[in-house]
Amino acid sequence: MERRSDANDIVDLLIIGGGINGCGIARDAAGRGMSVLLAEMNDLASATSSSSTKLFHGGLRYLEYFEFRLVREALIEREVLLSAMPHISWPMRFVLPYHEDMRFEGATPTSKLLNTFMPWMKGRRPAWLIRLGLFLYDNLGGRKILPGTATLKLSGSVEGDPLQDRFAKAYEYSDCWIEDSRLVVLNARDAVNRGADIRTRTRVTAATQTDGIWSIEMVDEASGETSTVQARMVVNAGGPWVGNILRQTIHSNTREDVRLVRGSHIVTRKLYEHDKCYFLQGTDGRIIFTIPYERDFTLIGTTDSDHPDPATHPVCTDEEKQYLIDFASQYLKTPVTQDDIIWSYSGVRPLYDDGASSATAATRDYTLKVEKISGAPLLNIFGGKITTYRRLAESALEAIGEFFPDLPDPWTAGVALPGGDFAVGDFDKLVAKLKTDFPFLSDRWAWRLVRAYGTDAWNILAGAASAEDLGQDFGATLSEREVDWLIKTEFAKSAEDVVWRRNKLGLRLDASQIQHLNQWMMDYVA
Ligand SMILES: Cc1cc2nc3c(=O)[nH]c(=O)nc-3n(C[C@H](O)[C@H](O)[C@H](O)COP(=O)(O)OP(=O)(O)OC[C@H]3O[C@@H](n4cnc5c(N)ncnc54)[C@H](O)[C@@H]3O)c2cc1C
Repeated sequence: MERRSDANDIVDLLIIGGGINGCGIARDAAGRGMSVLLAEMNDLASATSSSSTKLFHGGLRYLEYFEFRLVREALIEREVLLSAMPHISWPMRFVLPYHEDMRFEGATPTSKLLNTFMPWMKGRRPAWLIRLGLFLYDNLGGRKILPGTATLKLSGSVEGDPLQDRFAKAYEYSDCWIEDSRLVVLNARDAVNRGADIRTRTRVTAATQTDGIWSIEMVDEASGETSTVQARMVVNAGGPWVGNILRQTIHSNTREDVRLVRGSHIVTRKLYEHDKCYFLQGTDGRIIFTIPYERDFTLIGTTDSDHPDPATHPVCTDEEKQYLIDFASQYLKTPVTQDDIIWSYSGVRPLYDDGASSATAATRDYTLKVEKISGAPLLNIFGGKITTYRRLAESALEAIGEFFPDLPDPWTAGVALPGGDFAVGDFDKLVAKLKTDFPFLSDRWAWRLVRAYGTDAWNILAGAASAEDLGQDFGATLSEREVDWLIKTEFAKSAEDVVWRRNKLGLRLDASQIQHLNQWMMDYVA
């Protein structure tokens, strides 16, 4: 298909927002030959898409809300995505300890049914129901790579060791890990490779229409310069800001909106030695995960609280920290304390406002709404999961196709993201090969590079015979060569972009090292 940008510089799609949904749509659309400009007011993945629990998952708990469409789509999608990015995604096992005290959230359709037919259960979640849920989880959607459910006897087992003795039995099932912010950046890179124009630190401030064409005003946040671009269609992928963009930037009359639900996580010292996660059920009907994180830490989350507005920066409050500590300590032999917390983060889910009573009950499914304003088409994205971003992009392109009738067919299923062109089982082989080709790398360093960059690790290290050949050492194995790559190919502009979103070396570098890196990057850009 011919590229549509022309002498008048009218792009086909102007996408507002460089989170996973904006970048996923940009990649898909650029790959179908559309001219695409994506504007992100901050760094890529600077909002919700770097603050998730980082799971490609079907969402076991959504079965209790009868969200079968979402769960099935997400379950099938897990393995499609895993195969396309085996560097930044990998299988994980989840251990679900069973105890009869565990209770439903009162509002789920399942708990209402059970209260009607088995009132003597008094809100308890019976073991047979968990088994039924796991049976569905195993069988609803195309599981080929991931192992199925197993029952575990906890006493005397590695999995039972960190848990209190009152937990005798557990179920174990599979989902996948995903490096969320790297997923966004790799989608953006791939979009650029296919012709898209991705502009970070670029805020969309106004959108008007003339004769069915959009005029979009943007501000470069660094220089303050304003520019105007014309577009045939606008995609509003502003995540938590979707409603604000609709009302204040686009001046649409639609009544659709997002419900903002904050979720917080804490990162603690490593709480146990094995590599499995725990799926913990609370006595309040909620669930949390404890997940082995960055080799030396444990990630615990999440919470669910209504959040006032997108302008209020989400932080993990002291109350949320205490909630997560208390929750995990109901299970672990050695209680978690405030002193164990090394870092915390918080994000806002931009859920479609379906009028649900509680934040936990609001739907996690996505909703796409097309409208025309003075003849100019607009697509608004509400809700969604990291796990369903590629399918959401396909649905978005289907909606966009109404205005661009000759669009090629969907193409992204199974197509590797940059660096992901190797088999799911070959990760360890790749690490060994990198170490052979660059013998100065330590095991951990090689592992980190392959996890982040996959086969692109060879492009970053090309020609280096020693660590000195990689230039300045910023600490924790971060070299000048790597930072240079991140600036030139991964849109990094500050130390924060590098140490919290391109990698998580912020957990290992101290404040003065991060400040030094930032100064180096400022000088580099100048
Ligand atoms: C606590 C928590 C845990 C989660 N866990 C999981 C999980 O384990 N698995 C899963 O599949 N999903 C999970 N999710 C859901 C998932 O993270 C989100 O659905 C997804 O990240 C939303 O992406 P987005 O692109 O819509 O929004 P965002 O990532 O927020 O992107 C929107 C972007 O728009 C930009 N923007 C806004 N206004 C403008 C403007 N005027 N001009 C330019 N740019 C603008 C913002 O800066 C932002 O970067 C979780 C979410 C949360 C909060």
